[in-house]
Amino acid sequence: MRQIQVSLAKRSYPIRIGNDVLADTAALASLVMGKQALIITDENIAPFYLPAIQAALQSKTVQTLIFPPGEQEKNLVRFTEVMHVLAEMKASRDVTLIALGGGVVGDLTGFAAACWMRGVRFIQIPTTLLAMVDSSVGGKTAVDLESGKNLVGAFHQPVAVLADLTTLKTLPERELKAGLAEVIKYGAAFDVGFFSWLEKHVEELLALDETGLTEAISRSCRHKAGVVSRDETEQGERMLLNLGHTFAHAIETEQGYGGFLHGEAVAIGMCLAARLSAQLKRAPAADAERLGNLLKRAGLPTSLPAELDSEALLMRMKLDKKALSGSLRLILWRGLGRADVVADVSETAILRVLSG
Ligand code: ADP
Ligand code: ZN
Repeated sequence: MRQIQVSLAKRSYPIRIGNDVLADTAALASLVMGKQALIITDENIAPFYLPAIQAALQSKTVQTLIFPPGEQEKNLVRFTEVMHVLAEMKASRDVTLIALGGGVVGDLTGFAAACWMRGVRFIQIPTTLLAMVDSSVGGKTAVDLESGKNLVGAFHQPVAVLADLTTLKTLPERELKAGLAEVIKYGAAFDVGFFSWLEKHVEELLALDETGLTEAISRSCRHKAGVVSRDETEQGERMLLNLGHTFAHAIETEQGYGGFLHGEAVAIGMCLAARLSAQLKRAPAADAERLGNLLKRAGLPTSLPAELDSEALLMRMKLDKKALSGSLRLILWRGLGRADVVADVSETAILRVLSG
């Protein structure tokens, strides 16, 4: 088992990564300091992993909420349901919330933990690769509104992240590949050495090789933890984690429900950011090609489907949270491992990469 520490100004917490993380039931129980716990999970995950968590917490008073799966459940109605269950439990200030699931469960549970009595403890038990390397670490919590994703939320850090690799065995392959896009993002944005390592080991990761996964997830989390500890509330450096994401969010909203998974849209978005950087002569075209090749080997898409209209995508990009008063601010790069924030990117140049 590996352990990485997320160090923040006020406190720090561990990310534990390995095949036996959840088998350590005493460690899990010791993270629940009070008597009460509320586990939140979804219908796909509960049959596999919920009984073990409940058994580990036998000595506590434990309630469970099982939601239907999917992003559409990450909303204020579900949030209110969690608040009512906590009220019925007469949950006190020392209650611990436990998020057992992917990013949807993690974001909703974290936001509930941030709000109940102005903030209580919560534990992240991510069961998707994407949640293990990205959403469970760093304390961003939120629910969606109809007018946009993650519009209602808070920064609230977990007390621990428990990433048990054995949970990935039941994860649908398409979800695994989508998670790999965020792993590749760390190499592309910050660490050419990690990128080269991924070029050598991507097939092992797809085959769920334990050693490979441990290494890939640890290195990803180390980058995430580092960035978050230097810039918890995204005033600067943390923005670089959004490489490919302005494009990706535009693709996701333009497609509506049932289109690409988030990681798939990020794969395309990173390729577009790399191609735009090359066009603007900020970065070598060869690096964009290397990125595209690795994403393809990970089973991810690398170009926009023809039916997406470039003008419509550009409109959506201008509405992105990172856009400041109308001017487009994008994460581009100077080449592999060297992401940077660029203000005032020309719309003509963006339209050119969007239309291929
Ligand atoms: P993400 O972490 O990518 O934001 P979600 O929370 O939406 O993703 O989870 C993606 C899908 O995978 C959901 O349908 C969820 O129920 C399912 N899922 C998550 N973890 C597992 C797992 N370990 N085994 C099987 N299905 C899982
Ligand atoms: Zn992402």
